[in-house]
Amino acid sequence: MTSRTDALPKLDMYIGGEWVAPASGEYFETIDPFTAKPWALVARGDASDADRAVRAAHKAFTEGPWRRMHPSKRGRIIHRFGELIEQHADELAEIEVRDNGRLLAEMRHQIRYIPNWYYYYAGLADKIEGAVHPCDKPALSFSRHEPLGVCVGIVPWNAPLFLLSLKLPAALAAGNTVVLKPAEHTSATALKLMELVEKAGFPPGVINVVTGYGKEVGEPLVTHPLTRHVGFTGSTATGAHLYSLAAKDVKRVSLELGGKSPNIVFDDADLDNAVRGVVGGIFGAVGQTCIAGSRLLVQRKVHDAFVEKLAAFSKSARIGDPRNAATQIGPIANRMQYDKVLGYIDIARQEGAELVLGGKRPDEAECAEGFFVEPTIFTGVNNDMRIAREEVFGPVLSTIVFDEMEEAVAIANDTEFGLAAGLWTANMRRALRMSELLEAGSVWVNTYRDVSYTTPFGGYKKSGIGRENGVEGIREYLQTKAVWLST
Ligand code: NAD
Repeated sequence: MTSRTDALPKLDMYIGGEWVAPASGEYFETIDPFTAKPWALVARGDASDADRAVRAAHKAFTEGPWRRMHPSKRGRIIHRFGELIEQHADELAEIEVRDNGRLLAEMRHQIRYIPNWYYYYAGLADKIEGAVHPCDKPALSFSRHEPLGVCVGIVPWNAPLFLLSLKLPAALAAGNTVVLKPAEHTSATALKLMELVEKAGFPPGVINVVTGYGKEVGEPLVTHPLTRHVGFTGSTATGAHLYSLAAKDVKRVSLELGGKSPNIVFDDADLDNAVRGVVGGIFGAVGQTCIAGSRLLVQRKVHDAFVEKLAAFSKSARIGDPRNAATQIGPIANRMQYDKVLGYIDIARQEGAELVLGGKRPDEAECAEGFFVEPTIFTGVNNDMRIAREEVFGPVLSTIVFDEMEEAVAIANDTEFGLAAGLWTANMRRALRMSELLEAGSVWVNTYRDVSYTTPFGGYKKSGIGRENGVEGIREYLQTKAVWLST
């Protein structure tokens, strides 16, 4: 007899240029968050699979042609990979939506934009230049930038293909080899991407993907003695844990972690524009972005009018099937996160915050099966409440009132995080002053959630270490060697 599970497609791992079944022989279900039903089985990797992948990547680094190849040739292969992603964007978007419930239209748009990271770093590959140093010794001293070796990339489920693409092309362009581990909830697009690796011309072992749970396969990748760099995107708690593991072997790390970003509206702002920005900042991707503007700080004079506009605009958002072009808000990506978001809504109520909108599952019949939560707005929040301090990672906005700029800055910075901040004002002098005072890796003025391959991105404080994107992004994957030549 065939069980429901046996009929699902089985997704294997990609190691050393081959599709590989997990050593354990075990697979787990990946769930479509719109239907709450499994749609595929994913290989449950463990420490022996991690070892196999790191060894394959190490062999490709030490014995294969990748590192020795002229960087312009490496760049051409990375560029070709970007073109293949562009050609397969719609197919990849469909898979991403099945895995994490993001809107299909949004994913098509995002995945068509992703190749830019591959093109950008392809172009940088042959521009990594060293220097000749003015030297006070009878020798020629020069330095060059070299790859690190095996780089491990661990990413979360909220934007799987996008977040791995902030690491992969930069690491490759620098001459490294890579082992990727997608989140257990969303492994399918990373695996689909591997179907394009050979076509692009990468030698075997240069890019590998292992799948499974963090503790079982992720941690062995981090602690593996041949791993030289750990690029992690995920929660601050996991990031701090992996940082301590990497420290034991003095491994390089880049950490892109959580946030509790303030979005600050002054009374001279274009309020309609600010409403659109605030809504996009917190309800885009159902609030499941590290840069979610989850704390709304509004100047007292416009507080009531702004909240009214905001609630009316948010209430009109269509919630439902992420594949329907008219849908503006889809489901939460997985059951665990859904439970967590509803838990925080309860906490906010108990803390005395006032519910202005949402706060529950939607009533629409279309939302009956999936992990849906209505866009939720609380007012009367103070910055000491848990709802203002802890990352919800869902469509929950906490509104705080302020009087003066200094007070707004103090509230905005009173957080352990420092990933991003938004600012809505017509006063450019104030905007510039505040962009200095805000403790955040990105500050947006009269805009929100803009990210580009050209512009460094990363966190202050507990939001991370290191930067992705732009020229800074490739430096994470290089080390400098000084050479002294004397006759
Ligand atoms: P998470 O930390 O639970 O998991 C992230 C990844 O780490 C997953 O692949 C998971 O399997 C793996 N992992 C978990 N435990 C591990 C362990 N012990 N060893 C090795 N790997 C392990 O985070 P999440 O819930 O999947 O993602 C949401 C978080 O990610 C939020 O905090 C969000 O702010 C953050 N995030 C940050 C950025 C950024 O760029 N700063 C971007 C997106 C998401």
